[in-house]
Amino acid sequence: MNLTLDKLNFGIKNCKKCPLCKSRLNAVPGEGAVNPKIFFLGEAPGINEDRTGKPFVGKSGKYLDELFADIGILRNEVYITSSVKCRPPKNRRPLPNELKICRLNWLDKQLMIINPKLIVMLGKVALLQLTNRTDNLTQVHGEIFTYHSSQCLITFHPASAMRFPKIDILMKQDFQKLKLLLEKLG
Ligand code: SF4
Repeated sequence: MNLTLDKLNFGIKNCKKCPLCKSRLNAVPGEGAVNPKIFFLGEAPGINEDRTGKPFVGKSGKYLDELFADIGILRNEVYITSSVKCRPPKNRRPLPNELKICRLNWLDKQLMIINPKLIVMLGKVALLQLTNRTDNLTQVHGEIFTYHSSQCLITFHPASAMRFPKIDILMKQDFQKLKLLLEKLG
Protein backbone atom coordinates (compact mmCIF):
# COMPACT_ATOMS: atom_id res chain seq x y z
CA MET A 1 0.00 0.00 0.00
CA ASN A 2 1.34 3.44 -0.91
CA LEU A 3 0.70 5.16 2.40
CA THR A 4 1.43 8.88 2.53
CA LEU A 5 1.14 11.39 5.35
CA ASP A 6 -1.74 13.08 3.49
CA LYS A 7 -3.69 9.83 3.38
CA LEU A 8 -2.88 9.18 7.02
CA ASN A 9 -4.00 12.68 8.05
CA PHE A 10 -7.29 12.19 6.23
CA GLY A 11 -7.79 8.92 8.12
CA ILE A 12 -6.97 10.52 11.46
CA LYS A 13 -9.33 13.45 10.90
CA ASN A 14 -12.18 11.02 10.26
CA CYS A 15 -11.17 8.36 12.79
CA LYS A 16 -13.79 6.82 15.06
CA LYS A 17 -11.71 3.92 16.33
CA CYS A 18 -11.69 4.87 20.03
CA PRO A 19 -14.13 6.66 22.37
CA LEU A 20 -12.20 9.96 22.18
CA CYS A 21 -13.82 10.64 18.82
CA LYS A 22 -17.09 11.39 20.62
CA SER A 23 -15.92 14.44 22.55
CA ARG A 24 -13.46 16.01 20.11
CA LEU A 25 -14.12 19.01 17.89
CA ASN A 26 -11.14 18.28 15.63
CA ALA A 27 -8.66 15.43 15.55
CA VAL A 28 -5.08 16.74 15.49
CA PRO A 29 -2.90 14.57 13.24
CA GLY A 30 0.26 16.63 13.70
CA GLU A 31 2.20 18.82 11.32
CA GLY A 32 5.64 19.78 10.18
CA ALA A 33 8.33 19.19 7.61
CA VAL A 34 8.12 16.37 5.05
CA ASN A 35 11.62 15.19 5.97
CA PRO A 36 11.93 16.54 9.50
CA LYS A 37 15.12 16.63 11.52
CA ILE A 38 13.23 15.66 14.64
CA PHE A 39 9.89 14.05 15.54
CA PHE A 40 8.38 15.48 18.74
CA LEU A 41 5.81 13.37 20.55
CA GLY A 42 3.51 14.99 23.11
CA GLU A 43 0.59 13.71 25.17
CA ALA A 44 -2.77 14.75 23.72
CA PRO A 45 -4.47 17.78 22.17
CA GLY A 46 -5.71 20.42 24.62
CA ILE A 47 -8.54 22.90 24.19
CA ASN A 48 -6.72 25.14 21.67
CA GLU A 49 -5.49 22.21 19.63
CA ASP A 50 -8.99 20.71 19.63
CA ARG A 51 -10.43 23.99 18.33
CA THR A 52 -7.83 24.53 15.61
CA GLY A 53 -6.84 20.98 14.63
CA LYS A 54 -3.18 22.00 15.03
CA PRO A 55 -0.60 20.67 17.52
CA PHE A 56 0.91 22.76 20.33
CA VAL A 57 -0.79 26.07 19.54
CA GLY A 58 -1.49 27.19 23.13
CA LYS A 59 0.88 28.34 25.87
CA SER A 60 2.77 25.04 25.73
CA GLY A 61 3.34 25.63 22.03
CA LYS A 62 4.80 29.07 22.69
CA TYR A 63 7.11 27.62 25.31
CA LEU A 64 8.20 24.91 22.87
CA ASP A 65 8.90 27.53 20.20
CA GLU A 66 11.18 29.33 22.67
CA LEU A 67 13.07 26.09 23.33
CA PHE A 68 13.42 25.57 19.57
CA ALA A 69 14.78 29.12 19.19
CA ASP A 70 17.28 28.53 22.04
CA ILE A 71 18.91 25.71 20.08
CA GLY A 72 18.50 27.22 16.63
CA ILE A 73 15.73 25.12 15.13
CA LEU A 74 12.55 26.27 13.44
CA ARG A 75 9.15 24.72 13.95
CA ASN A 76 8.80 24.10 10.21
CA GLU A 77 11.96 21.96 10.26
CA VAL A 78 10.47 19.43 12.69
CA TYR A 79 7.35 17.27 12.99
CA ILE A 80 5.10 17.59 16.03
CA THR A 81 2.30 15.27 17.05
CA SER A 82 0.83 13.65 20.15
CA SER A 83 0.30 10.18 21.60
CA VAL A 84 -3.45 10.35 20.95
CA LYS A 85 -4.84 12.58 18.25
CA CYS A 86 -8.11 13.60 19.95
CA ARG A 87 -8.60 15.65 23.11
CA PRO A 88 -9.58 13.60 26.17
CA PRO A 89 -12.57 15.06 28.08
CA LYS A 90 -11.51 17.71 30.63
CA ASN A 91 -7.87 17.18 29.57
CA ARG A 92 -7.62 13.91 31.52
CA ARG A 93 -4.75 11.54 30.73
CA PRO A 94 -5.44 9.22 27.77
CA LEU A 95 -6.54 5.76 28.91
CA PRO A 96 -4.48 2.64 28.08
CA ASN A 97 -6.94 1.39 25.45
CA GLU A 98 -7.07 4.83 23.79
CA LEU A 99 -3.28 4.97 23.66
CA LYS A 100 -3.04 1.47 22.24
CA ILE A 101 -5.68 1.97 19.55
CA CYS A 102 -4.28 5.31 18.45
CA ARG A 103 -0.73 4.03 18.34
CA LEU A 104 -1.51 0.91 16.32
CA ASN A 105 -3.69 2.79 13.86
CA TRP A 106 -1.78 6.04 13.48
CA LEU A 107 1.41 6.73 15.43
CA ASP A 108 3.27 3.62 14.27
CA LYS A 109 2.38 4.50 10.66
CA GLN A 110 3.48 8.12 11.08
CA LEU A 111 6.84 6.89 12.35
CA MET A 112 7.12 4.37 9.53
CA ILE A 113 6.50 7.05 6.87
CA ILE A 114 8.59 9.81 8.44
CA ASN A 115 11.36 7.50 9.71
CA PRO A 116 12.94 10.27 11.80
CA LYS A 117 16.59 10.26 12.84
CA LEU A 118 15.57 11.67 16.18
CA ILE A 119 12.49 11.29 18.36
CA VAL A 120 11.92 13.52 21.39
CA MET A 121 9.42 12.23 23.93
CA LEU A 122 7.74 15.13 25.68
CA GLY A 123 6.56 13.77 29.01
CA LYS A 124 5.43 10.63 30.76
CA VAL A 125 2.60 9.72 28.39
CA ALA A 126 4.85 9.95 25.31
CA LEU A 127 7.42 7.71 27.03
CA LEU A 128 4.71 5.20 27.93
CA GLN A 129 3.20 5.31 24.45
CA LEU A 130 6.43 4.61 22.64
CA THR A 131 8.27 2.32 25.04
CA ASN A 132 5.73 1.07 27.60
CA ARG A 133 8.00 2.51 30.32
CA THR A 134 6.54 4.12 33.42
CA ASP A 135 9.72 5.64 34.85
CA ASN A 136 9.80 8.76 36.97
CA LEU A 137 10.78 11.49 34.50
CA THR A 138 12.99 13.32 36.97
CA GLN A 139 15.18 10.19 37.03
CA VAL A 140 15.27 9.38 33.32
CA HIS A 141 15.02 12.76 31.57
CA GLY A 142 17.94 13.41 29.26
CA GLU A 143 18.38 9.68 28.58
CA ILE A 144 19.19 8.83 24.97
CA PHE A 145 18.51 5.40 23.47
CA THR A 146 17.86 3.74 20.13
CA TYR A 147 14.32 2.87 19.06
CA HIS A 148 14.27 0.92 15.77
CA SER A 149 16.52 3.14 13.62
CA SER A 150 15.88 6.39 15.53
CA GLN A 151 17.77 8.01 18.37
CA CYS A 152 15.37 8.95 21.18
CA LEU A 153 15.62 11.57 23.89
CA ILE A 154 13.40 11.59 26.98
CA THR A 155 12.35 14.95 28.38
CA PHE A 156 9.45 16.63 30.12
CA HIS A 157 6.15 17.95 28.78
CA PRO A 158 6.23 21.74 28.23
CA ALA A 159 3.18 22.14 30.50
CA SER A 160 5.19 20.75 33.46
CA ALA A 161 8.17 22.95 32.68
CA MET A 162 5.93 26.01 32.59
CA ARG A 163 4.44 25.13 35.97
CA PHE A 164 7.62 24.17 37.85
CA PRO A 165 10.78 26.32 37.60
CA LYS A 166 13.02 23.34 38.47
CA ILE A 167 11.59 21.34 35.57
CA ASP A 168 12.04 24.35 33.30
CA ILE A 169 15.78 24.32 34.06
CA LEU A 170 16.05 20.55 33.50
CA MET A 171 14.12 20.69 30.24
CA LYS A 172 16.39 23.44 28.93
CA GLN A 173 19.38 21.26 29.80
CA ASP A 174 17.80 18.37 27.87
CA PHE A 175 17.41 20.65 24.86
CA GLN A 176 21.13 21.44 25.00
CA LYS A 177 21.70 17.66 24.79
CA LEU A 178 19.36 17.63 21.81
CA LYS A 179 21.44 20.35 20.17
CA LEU A 180 24.59 18.24 20.57
CA LEU A 181 22.82 15.16 19.22
CA LEU A 182 21.67 17.12 16.19
CA GLU A 183 25.21 18.33 15.55
CA LYS A 184 26.50 14.74 15.77
CA LEU A 185 23.87 13.41 13.40
CA GLY A 186 24.59 16.23 10.95
S1 SF4 B 1 -7.65 9.32 19.62
FE1 SF4 B 1 -6.77 8.28 17.85
S2 SF4 B 1 -7.81 6.29 17.73
FE2 SF4 B 1 -9.02 7.63 19.06
S3 SF4 B 1 -10.55 8.53 17.69
FE3 SF4 B 1 -8.82 9.96 17.82
S4 SF4 B 1 -7.51 9.42 16.08
FE4 SF4 B 1 -8.92 7.71 16.41
